[in-house]
Amino acid sequence: MALSYQSTRGGQTGVTASQAVLQGLAADGGLFMPTEIPALDVSLEKLAGMTYQETAYEVMKLFLTDYTEEELKSCIAKAYDSKFDTEEIAPLAKADGAYYLELYHGSTIAFKDMALSILPHLMTTAAKKNREDREIVILTATSGDTGKAAMAGFADVLGTRIIVFYPKGGVSPVQERQMRTQKGDNTFVVAIHGNFDDAQTGVKKLFNNKELARELSDKGFLLSSANSINIGRLVPQIVYYVYAYARLLANEEIRGGEEINIVVPTGNFGNILAAYFAKKMGLPIRTLICASNDNKVLYDFFTTGTYDRRREFILTNSPSMDILISSNLERLIYLSAGCDAAANADLMRELAEEGRYTVTGSMRDFMSDFRGGFATQKENAKAIRTIFQDTGYLIDTHTGVAAAVYDQYKNDTGDMTKTVIASTASPFKFARSVMEAVKGRDAVEGKDEFAVADALAEEAGIALPEAVEEIRTAPIRHSRECAVDEMEKTVKNILRIL
Ligand SMILES: *Cc1c(COP(=O)(O)O)cnc(C)c1O
Repeated sequence: MALSYQSTRGGQTGVTASQAVLQGLAADGGLFMPTEIPALDVSLEKLAGMTYQETAYEVMKLFLTDYTEEELKSCIAKAYDSKFDTEEIAPLAKADGAYYLELYHGSTIAFKDMALSILPHLMTTAAKKNREDREIVILTATSGDTGKAAMAGFADVLGTRIIVFYPKGGVSPVQERQMRTQKGDNTFVVAIHGNFDDAQTGVKKLFNNKELARELSDKGFLLSSANSINIGRLVPQIVYYVYAYARLLANEEIRGGEEINIVVPTGNFGNILAAYFAKKMGLPIRTLICASNDNKVLYDFFTTGTYDRRREFILTNSPSMDILISSNLERLIYLSAGCDAAANADLMRELAEEGRYTVTGSMRDFMSDFRGGFATQKENAKAIRTIFQDTGYLIDTHTGVAAAVYDQYKNDTGDMTKTVIASTASPFKFARSVMEAVKGRDAVEGKDEFAVADALAEEAGIALPEAVEEIRTAPIRHSRECAVDEMEKTVKNILRIL
């Protein structure tokens, strides 16, 4: 039977890939899952000879089954081009006994670019295929990285508009400047007077507002999501794990079939879930190490079987991992329950109503490929400093969490399996925290973001990325602000339907 998509909560089945991409979230609040995880149908040896773009096609064609070869190859060509500052797209760097898979060479210098540079093309293609002629309006709440990457992806893409809400005062200075200088006539940025949860809850409310949907539809607009729950973000993320394995093989770092471990600094559980999918497709992966910061809800889950979000939300220097509800975990829960949508829906209801749930013993057994770890800010800083001092290789504060957790893992288990660490952001995106880790507080005090970035570039002997240079002088284009209860009005204002 051909692969199709169904909701993890049972409310929708038989959905085509392009419909799932277009819709984002299932109508019952569940996430779309493929009816099976397909096996790779080319050999690893063959993949070892392929470019990133060729690898992307071999992986994505297996999931996006109603896209034609021509459509998919065109999306891939438009996404993975000179927007990336390296032809390899996702290069591997060997340092300190591990392989760092650098996922930050796209236009916003964080790993969100890997999927968000192709999602707009998958979405507009899906609209065409489904004879959808309404204009697609992407609504996004962001704590910093997603908003900019989504706007960079959707900027000037015909037939789309994107509106991003971020918490005023709740993102880093570089992140805010990146968003407020965003080009493109179809991009809109709004600072809301509230925190990230307010932004996220507000956007979810807009999605669930049937009356608004009807009104927008009458005026020719269709709301959709660029959030990591969209299957159109998950599938492109599988590609770089396959590519990384193939590079290791091509460079004779591993033998054919040799197992590797993967460490992923985790927030919403999207990136590491993509690695799990790669394993299920046949990639020789042994352990998936899920690295958390002080918001260690996933570490607790993997060690106890209980997911409990009733705890203090801690602001850390790895802000893109500051999250207590890891949305994509629902997909793993669903799989571990034997694809029993009702069982999954019960657990998700418990999470919404009581803030916690506990999985069964057999579900825990199913998840034994995963291992949780966490690193404090101090351990994170120490990992960044040590690796830089010992090897000259510089990593950001998210990757630092992964590096610290990997160290603990090796100490705890003695497992010396070759290991790939997902490196999710350029150190220059979080220059202040990275500089402080490397040189101490005195090196950053009293300096503005750009001065710190310049000093860090000099210290490391690498050129400042174009993305940072760009915003140094770029004019501010967005100054909209709104109260939390004015989000609907603001959207209507932007779409000129008031
Ligand atoms: C989003 C993000 C993460 C977390 O990825 P998830 O897929 O949400 O687990 C980690 N690091 C950086 C830099 C990010 O932007």
